[in-house]
Amino acid sequence: MRQVDYHITMNTKPRPTRKASELGRALAANRRLVEGTCAVCGKPFSGTAKRMYCSTLCAAKAYRRSHQEELNEKRRKKYARQKKTAEEETPSAAAKPSPHSQ
Ligand SMILES: [Zn+2]
Repeated sequence: MRQVDYHITMNTKPRPTRKASELGRALAANRRLVEGTCAVCGKPFSGTAKRMYCSTLCAAKAYRRSHQEELNEKRRKKYARQKKTAEEETPSAAAKPSPHSQ
């Protein structure tokens, strides 16, 4: 296994109990920043070379766009499951008119 060097330049004193995510953040802070343009909204931002979006909001938007059909299918299945359980719990609910429709 590769030995990880925890003694990197950080704002806070390094502790042996430091979490992996904190270490990742500290490493990212040491990386060279580049200027980029968000692939979703087109806003300029500065971040690590790998970064593609200005915010987690835009990253989530991009994910939803590229996985749209997959997410729709998931939602359809979830809706069908909910509908089925609702019909099983109250079998006559579908036959009865809604109290608000009178
Ligand atoms: Zn953006």
